[in-house]
Amino acid sequence: MYTERLYYDYAAPEPFSAEIRELRPLGDLTALLLDKTIFYPEGGGQEGDRGSINGVPLVDVKESADAEILHLVAAVGNLMPGPATLLLDSRRRRDFTVQHSAQHLLSGTILRLTGNHTVSMHLGPESNTIDVDVPELPPGVLTRVEDAVADAVESDVPLVIHLCPPEDITKFPLRKVPPRGEEVIRVVEITGNDFSPCCGTHCASTGQIGIVKILGAERYKGMTRVSFIAGRRVLAEHRVLRRNGEIISRALKVPVAETGAGVLALLERGAAVERELKELREAAAETKAGALLAKVPVPVKTALPAKVPVPAENAVCAGPVPGEGPLLVAEIYDGSFDEVLRIGRAAQKKTTTILLLASGTERKFAAFCSAKGVDLRSLLAAAMEQRGGKGGGGAGYFQGVFESRDALESFLGDMI
Ligand SMILES: [Zn+2]
Repeated sequence: MYTERLYYDYAAPEPFSAEIRELRPLGDLTALLLDKTIFYPEGGGQEGDRGSINGVPLVDVKESADAEILHLVAAVGNLMPGPATLLLDSRRRRDFTVQHSAQHLLSGTILRLTGNHTVSMHLGPESNTIDVDVPELPPGVLTRVEDAVADAVESDVPLVIHLCPPEDITKFPLRKVPPRGEEVIRVVEITGNDFSPCCGTHCASTGQIGIVKILGAERYKGMTRVSFIAGRRVLAEHRVLRRNGEIISRALKVPVAETGAGVLALLERGAAVERELKELREAAAETKAGALLAKVPVPVKTALPAKVPVPAENAVCAGPVPGEGPLLVAEIYDGSFDEVLRIGRAAQKKTTTILLLASGTERKFAAFCSAKGVDLRSLLAAAMEQRGGKGGGGAGYFQGVFESRDALESFLGDMI
């Protein structure tokens, strides 16, 4: 069905009258076909417009393979063939028009300054990208491009639309290959900057684009993917960055322009404090390990008996072996489990006695034994599980956690 296309000339927020000619089911959606439309259908790298028809919001606007314009709605509501009021989301349209025009200007400028072509582009709801046919665009080049684009914006040169029959298209120095099979090719000229075949919506002059900001450039499939924003998006982003810059500036007591160096200096100081803290924690663990080892009534580095008794079922037996002193020393700490691990690791180097250490606050325990022939699993697992604990480990290291401190203490009490 033929629909008169008025979207190039209509971008206003005021209601527009048209007629619904057909409602056509399309998967989960319904496509409305109109006698005329102000809604731009997705194409040329630009998303379809949004808005409403008789108050029913548009999910998307697309062009079918037969060049029909499909206005897609999720719920039909009271829509029916007949008169309809179209309402365009003009703010969104304006935003995409600005981003799209900025893309032309940016791609044209990169071509003019570096000789590299834009191979593809994407206009997103937050930021946009172009893929430039060169492996790298150094930061200095990107800054020159930004400045040249800003010059063109300040010059406020017109964007001129040429409707050209295919046979005459060679008279334009086009930046990219024109589409085939079109009766008329639409060429968008940015005076002095760029000629590009395009069906999207565009600003009337470069001054309407406002500032164009390149956000970054990265390698992508042998090309360079340049991300950018334009117009009010630059303003919105600047507000966010300024707000964050001021927070950091106040916190670090440095000017906004020096917040980067200020943060790096802070991180360096933080790393030095971390290193010092680690050393102090290790030293504290050594001291506590010494106190723990003092409770072992056998000389340190004393070998265990060749065979450590394995507890019988339902029995927790790691206690004294005649003539050898206790095989196991248990301790509960108020600190974190990390601290318990540090103490255990430090003490383990100086004894072959089994160390059963726990964090009361985290209800976790760890057992260490550096003696050969000891299997902590067979020594501890059954007793742990009997009190609802969960855990695991190997012959020389075993850890677990209990649901309550009482269960943990009961477990430790039984083991010594
Ligand atoms: Zn365009």
